[in-house]
Amino acid sequence: MIPTQKNAAPPFADLLKTDIRAGPGSIVKARLDRRCPPIHLLPVGATGTQHLQIEGQLTSLRTLSIARSPQPKPPSAWLRGALFATALAFLTTAPTPAAANDIKAANFLLDNGMEVVVIPDHRAPIVTHMVWYKVGSADEPPGKSGIAHFFEHLMFKGTANHGAGELDRAVAEVGGSLNAFTSYDYTAFYERVAPSAVEQMMSFEADRMRNLTLTDDVINTERDVVREERRLRVDNNPEALLDEEVVTTLWQSQPYRIPVIGWMHEIEKLDRNDAVAFYDNYGPNNAVLVVAGDIEPEAVKALAEKTYGKVPCGPDLPPRERPSEPVQNTRRTLTLSDGRVSVPIFSRYWVVPSYRTAEPGEAEALDLLARILAGGNRSRLYQELVVKQGIAAAADADFEGTMLDAGKFSIRGWPRGDAELADVEAAVDAEIARIARNGITSDELEKTKNRYIRSFLFAHDEQDSVAGMYGATLATGGNGKDVEEWPDRIRKVTADQVKAVAARYLVSDHSTTGYLLPKEN
Ligand SMILES: [Zn+2]
Repeated sequence: MIPTQKNAAPPFADLLKTDIRAGPGSIVKARLDRRCPPIHLLPVGATGTQHLQIEGQLTSLRTLSIARSPQPKPPSAWLRGALFATALAFLTTAPTPAAANDIKAANFLLDNGMEVVVIPDHRAPIVTHMVWYKVGSADEPPGKSGIAHFFEHLMFKGTANHGAGELDRAVAEVGGSLNAFTSYDYTAFYERVAPSAVEQMMSFEADRMRNLTLTDDVINTERDVVREERRLRVDNNPEALLDEEVVTTLWQSQPYRIPVIGWMHEIEKLDRNDAVAFYDNYGPNNAVLVVAGDIEPEAVKALAEKTYGKVPCGPDLPPRERPSEPVQNTRRTLTLSDGRVSVPIFSRYWVVPSYRTAEPGEAEALDLLARILAGGNRSRLYQELVVKQGIAAAADADFEGTMLDAGKFSIRGWPRGDAELADVEAAVDAEIARIARNGITSDELEKTKNRYIRSFLFAHDEQDSVAGMYGATLATGGNGKDVEEWPDRIRKVTADQVKAVAARYLVSDHSTTGYLLPKEN
């Protein structure tokens, strides 16, 4: 749902090959992702050409600007508000253009490397304040599964300045709400409060970014909470167990195969040393602040500098390079029989490109394909399996494309009446084969695009969704333009592209399929 574009953040090595042309005596500003210090100034020699040679300590270049000497730009030059502000032209087609046009994002950096996105929206006196860390379960050290999610819990414990639960109480006192979540590629914390409480939220978040008190007592108590959470959400839920097993089988090398919540036997061994080491990921140089709502960028900048700006940047973090998937040439199936199951499930997964790794247009085509297959009751699987053949109670398709590495595509079906899982599976296969062979109609494509883009625009009505789109995109290497240009990229997808991705990626010989069955007596 949340788009990023391939090569949004070019690897620094690519830029090393480029000579930067600038006037003699200019200064090239390079902002380096996750590094400390985050900003490097490179003077350009008398020839007016600078060949960047600072390899070894650098991973990626996030911002490059050329400032003319001898008047270097003042610190406010880092305010890149214009970058996002004009890219929302597509919103003029929304049903309430006046309100929608009020959504404008500004983007700037703090000196300690923290990225900030502000999306002013004055329709209600509410502000969504989110801090996204560029770390998730796929960044965990081997054998330490679950530490990313465990650490999300620890962030609600006491610091040197605030007792455990103080943030929750402060949010409740101003009538706000708060929560947090961990995913494969990021971890985020957010509060929804009145504008007057934003500074207080910032000071709480800035405090727990570095000042947590991680004692054995705190760790041991919270580990029990996390074990119980795994027991309830996964081990006691056959559908979640099947999902965990299928995903683990799907990925052969990528750490996405490890469940976000972690394996129970590894959760049980997580200790204080693991937590302290993992805390290194929580520096401002690895964080993105997203503020959406009834507040102006200049006000956010002043408050952010006063709070987050005082936090020293954390240690240099290594590049997020993970093992990649080999070519998959086998079809894998697994079966889970469980006494608690009353309705069986058929569930099939494929490894596909993500928005970040796909060839131009492919991720958008996969996104649309998921909706053509199972986006509502006009979709193909619904019409064929539920309405026409009457063999399924429901069918579902999903493209997970907002990933740092590859994405995944999945289809699920629930049989109805006397129908067997095999009937549902055969009907799903037939529908995919039909698209791969005959393609889709232009009417089907246009209607799907319109429905999808409309749902994206409606999401803009919800501050949480808007902030979430920016946060997830920036935390996986994308930028604001990726979010804002996404509807146009969806509009450009052709019927041939949808047919091509179905034929290329949804091949059953490359799939992993799970069957959830009731236990036979
Ligand atoms: Zn949890």
